[in-house]
Amino acid sequence: MTAQLTLYNSLTRSLEAFQPLDPEKGVRVYSCGPTVYNYAHLGNLRAYVFTDTLSRVLSWKGYPLTHVINITDVGHLTSDADAGDDKMEAAARAQAKSIWDIAAHYTAAFKQNIADLNIRQPTRWSVATDHIAEMIDFAEKIAPEHCYELDSGLYFDSTTVPDYGKLAGSQDDAREGRIEAVEGKRHPQDFAIWRKSPPGEQRQMEWDSPWGKGAPGWHLECSVMSIKYLGAPFDIHTGGIDHREIHHPNEIAQNQAFCGCSDTGSHFWMHNNFLVDRQGKMSKSKGGFTTLQSLIDAGVHPLAYRLLCLQAQYRSELEFSAENLAAALTRLKRLVMTVTALKAKDEVDNQSLIGAAYIERLDQAASDDLNTPKVLPVLDEMLADKRLTAYERVDLLRQFDAVLGLRLLELSREDLRVRPAAATITAQEIEDRLVERKEARLVKDFQRSDTIRDELAAAGVEVMDGDPMGWDWKPLLGG
Ligand code: AMP
Ligand code: ZN
Repeated sequence: MTAQLTLYNSLTRSLEAFQPLDPEKGVRVYSCGPTVYNYAHLGNLRAYVFTDTLSRVLSWKGYPLTHVINITDVGHLTSDADAGDDKMEAAARAQAKSIWDIAAHYTAAFKQNIADLNIRQPTRWSVATDHIAEMIDFAEKIAPEHCYELDSGLYFDSTTVPDYGKLAGSQDDAREGRIEAVEGKRHPQDFAIWRKSPPGEQRQMEWDSPWGKGAPGWHLECSVMSIKYLGAPFDIHTGGIDHREIHHPNEIAQNQAFCGCSDTGSHFWMHNNFLVDRQGKMSKSKGGFTTLQSLIDAGVHPLAYRLLCLQAQYRSELEFSAENLAAALTRLKRLVMTVTALKAKDEVDNQSLIGAAYIERLDQAASDDLNTPKVLPVLDEMLADKRLTAYERVDLLRQFDAVLGLRLLELSREDLRVRPAAATITAQEIEDRLVERKEARLVKDFQRSDTIRDELAAAGVEVMDGDPMGWDWKPLLGG
């Protein structure tokens, strides 16, 4: 692992050589986590495949790592500016449930997605509502010099810190337009640190504060929790590219106010690009999003979605479609079949220089701003390289998969045949029918063989005759 790790820093809009700020502390990473008012859509999950790739590359290259991901269960409004309703309050009202139940349900669903995608657990999940007292302390410290109070809450004056919005790049009208005016705000970019509960209205989530009963602004939690658990400045702060425009510039402003310096709070600010579909950026508020569970229910193994993500570099937009997903699933099956065959061979170890050259190429690609699309063909080439023994290839695969996280050493062909939720037939019944069909074909009873195929199709299962990978059947994928 000798290649210099290079990462794109959104703050300088350039690739920079990465070194930990304090090697004694290892690498400290904070990732903006999900708002748990709904199921994560596939676009949200791309953000965590990205942070997982980052964390895996750091670990593989030997850096000790502290990784914090937060859970936003308060403060995120339906508009990214300071207008609209709290997403959690709105979801609780719509579903006639308590916010706490909503948060618990969607947090558990999110953690299941994380497990299904083989995303490593962070060092700490940090929940916003567990840190309200610290948020109030932080706000009290910055308020005298940086905030002003209105009837609706405490606001941060964005002109009190140097270079407000530098991370977002040039101030364009479109972005300003998104920051809806709040009565009395001094500048459109100013943002809420504390939102007072409107008089006469009782919210499910509200706390006493020096500015009255209310709830913290969304941006506050990330400054408070990242500094609490990682110290400031720490090494890397991540999020989706939408956070580059408002959420992260606001975090930076708070961090600067808190330290009384121009430091942004993190050395690197990294952002993954969007997962898009034909209608544009996938989003929860648009509705009609696709969850990971909906893919699993359709009979697609979740790691096929992980592979789809890895086929693009995190800074490129990635298009999601049923065809792209099906192609990724086929590629995953092929990899699993190849590895299964290699594992079955009984050969003695024979470490060669050729193996070392593959590790070097893996290192080069991974260190090049996490260029996983460059890693994948090197993996294919290595697995097919007959100059290496099967044993050696499997051994090298361990290192590739430490970076890719596709569980290639454990997955079997059976694992990848996920029975669609809507299938009206069990896996065993499918196998039995296929045996029957083979027997019919053996005695040239093609009518019977066709009937069985049609019956399986009606049950949601497509028979794959002559499949070079010997897969036998796959779920019928709709749309
Ligand atoms: P949220 O749950 O809305 O707070 O978002 C969780 C993460 O998903 C954030 O880092 C967002 O920036 C990111 N994100 C939201 N939509 C997309 C998308 N379509 N593609 C990739 N990342 C996204
Ligand atoms: Zn955040």
